[in-house]
Amino acid sequence: MSERDIERSEAHVEEERERSARAVRAAVTRPGNAECANCGKPISEARRQAAPFAERCIECQSRHEWKARQYA
Ligand SMILES: [Zn+2]
Repeated sequence: MSERDIERSEAHVEEERERSARAVRAAVTRPGNAECANCGKPISEARRQAAPFAERCIECQSRHEWKARQYA
């Protein structure tokens, strides 16, 4: 194996490590956050099941949507 090949395989290992670290992070934060990104209150299990990618609790989400409508 040439030095170049070793370098390449090390880069590959590094890439794999980064990829799996990302996957773990994604699994921890997705699907759905346990806590509201806005107020930090826990998001109910029912809401998380209904909207797995919800980042906000139902309160903040409706406020957010209401605001979005105001400025639309
Ligand atoms: Zn909230």
